[in-house]
Amino acid sequence: MSDELNVEELFASKVFTLGKMKERLPKSTYKEVMHIIDQGGELSPAAADVVAKAMKDWAVENGATHYTHWFQPLTGITAEKHDAFVTHPDEDGRMIMEFSGKELIKGEPDASSFPSGGLRATFEARGYTTWDITSPAFIKETATGPTLCIPTAFCSYTGEALDKKTPLLRSMEALSKQAIRIVRLFGNTDATKVIPSVGAEQEYFLIDAKKALQREDILFAGRTLYGAPAPKGQEMDDHYFGVIRERIGAFMRDVNIELWKLGVTSKTQHNEAAPAQHEVAPIYESANVAVDHNQLVMETLKRVAGKHGLRCMLHEKPFAGVNGSGKHNNWSITTDTGVNLLEPGQTPNENIQFLLVIACIMKAVDTHADLLRQSASNVGNDQRLGGYEAPPAIISIFLGEQLEDVVEQLVETGRAANLKEGGVLRTGVSTLPDFLKDPTDRNRTSPFAFTGNKFEFRSVGSSDSIGSPNTTLNAIVAEAFCEAADRLESCEDLERGIHDLIKEYMTEHQRIIFNGNGYAKEWEEEAARRGLPNIPSMVEAVDTLITPKAIRLFEKFGIFTEAELRSRAEVLYETYAKSVNIEALTMLDMANKQIIPAVVRYTNSLADTVIKLQTAGADTTVPCELLKEITEKLTEMKRATEALTAAEKEASSMPQGKEQAFFYHDRVVTAMTTLRKPADELEKLVDKDYWPFPTYADLMFEV
Ligand code: ADP
Ligand code: MG
Repeated sequence: MSDELNVEELFASKVFTLGKMKERLPKSTYKEVMHIIDQGGELSPAAADVVAKAMKDWAVENGATHYTHWFQPLTGITAEKHDAFVTHPDEDGRMIMEFSGKELIKGEPDASSFPSGGLRATFEARGYTTWDITSPAFIKETATGPTLCIPTAFCSYTGEALDKKTPLLRSMEALSKQAIRIVRLFGNTDATKVIPSVGAEQEYFLIDAKKALQREDILFAGRTLYGAPAPKGQEMDDHYFGVIRERIGAFMRDVNIELWKLGVTSKTQHNEAAPAQHEVAPIYESANVAVDHNQLVMETLKRVAGKHGLRCMLHEKPFAGVNGSGKHNNWSITTDTGVNLLEPGQTPNENIQFLLVIACIMKAVDTHADLLRQSASNVGNDQRLGGYEAPPAIISIFLGEQLEDVVEQLVETGRAANLKEGGVLRTGVSTLPDFLKDPTDRNRTSPFAFTGNKFEFRSVGSSDSIGSPNTTLNAIVAEAFCEAADRLESCEDLERGIHDLIKEYMTEHQRIIFNGNGYAKEWEEEAARRGLPNIPSMVEAVDTLITPKAIRLFEKFGIFTEAELRSRAEVLYETYAKSVNIEALTMLDMANKQIIPAVVRYTNSLADTVIKLQTAGADTTVPCELLKEITEKLTEMKRATEALTAAEKEASSMPQGKEQAFFYHDRVVTAMTTLRKPADELEKLVDKDYWPFPTYADLMFEV
């Protein structure tokens, strides 16, 4: 890699950008594409053919031989099936690379092996992928060669969404429509749509690939299922923002280059709190593209790690006892004329709009705290949320001191006129920049924090797609905007109506505001007094998707049908059961084939020592004590494997669904915890030469 890296030239070089379309398409076709990006609609077959040809020519110039409809099924990751541009040879045996408009717009993968939660029986294998024109096509360069990737939505033969993109796009449209009604109330007539912007900070761990290969738990479960803590953890705070080591630096540089080529604005990189933990963050962009780009970030991290002899762990809790990984989802809403509705602003007029937006968001988050919690749940995040180092499982909003004060005064005095005069507001807003400059400790623990001109949803797990959290956020805020607009549009005295509504919403939903320490035990009790939901696990969160309140919300805005919600609930239960089952089997395999035999070998050597010492007439106290302690723990461990085997057997023989998932959660996970304890204690007693796989110290400190 040369030092004269031209980032400006490199950037988006592997993306079929609007600029490239403008260059390569006839004016009228380009106009048609732009119109659809802006206003929606369908590309005419003729235009689709023209776009497809231009896209193919560009891809072929860049060495591509294949294309793929790149989509995001409910697995949480992406899927692709490659097709070469090759066609039937002509009579002379010559072949011409081709790509039609039809192939660009619609794909028909055999979809029977993707999770559908009963929406599509396996014998009805038909699924369709359709081009999402709002997310640019790009070329992925892997060992298979450059491949043209076309971002697509994925749905069933009967039109139900089978992916994460379709509902996200639907939610963006819903939010836009309702937000426009809000800005119209304030006399904004030029904006035609409102777009949610998202910037996702991605945390990850990097360990040595050779060592990772020696651990079945890392291979199969993506996290360690055993492991005594290393003598040193993160207590010295010396890794966070520390100097980036050479091997990691070389990796980060390559990641940046790969991401820039793909048009991902990789911007910030640093070491995170735990040893071997790091973070990368791009600049925010339209939610839809941000979701796609976050998938590319995760994929690129893993791929480039492989090239550097490293393994990238995206799991939410790869190691017990040190920080887990999350994905801070920064979210704001901006008009197509560039007004961020979350910008506090300078003039009182804009501030009132801002306060109305904040009031609506308070209402949205309070009304649907359960759904927001659900949107950030996955199997790995169960190990992280509420662990006193990550946001709690209770959703609350942090507004910062100044804004909270504004809310309090509004609620207390009840005088909307105060706002208009600007006293309270001006004070609050004019000091906001000062506040923002102070990094406050207190807001680190909040799951949903206002940070200047955006909300930062911090509960999201590091390995998860950010599709669901943003779909939910857009949906709940759309609903609050809609209800506010319904009332205000028919208001005779609009100014008064707005002030009353702000006060009403802020009063009714003030309980969702919490500026204190979210890690503290007292918060759990306080939250319970306030009646805020505390949903500790993924399985307990699933049913929030199918409450009458949730179904009403999602159906009203055309984001999910009830059938789609029910299918998603099914998929979540199945995913949970399958994941825990893999973890249980992995633990048993490691216990039975690695740990127990290793400990037995060590006790054998100890016993030999005792006999030899006795023969020699020497003191055998210490080896005898050790032998006793170790064999006791070995017995405990063996019994625990038997209990886990029985629990796993019972669980895996149950029919799939809620009951099974809860059985895994209540019985299997508990049995896993019981097995881990003696194993980790043994690790601390047994001669390191006998221990069958790399330890926490080997994994986290020798990268
Ligand atoms: P922090 O102090 O939380 O690290 P940063 O300003 O570094 O905040 O931003 C973190 C992420 O938030 C980045 O991806 C950034 O692009 C994104 N971000 C910044 N402003 C906005 C905004 N208005 N809307 C959405 N995301 C934003
Ligand atoms: Mg941040």
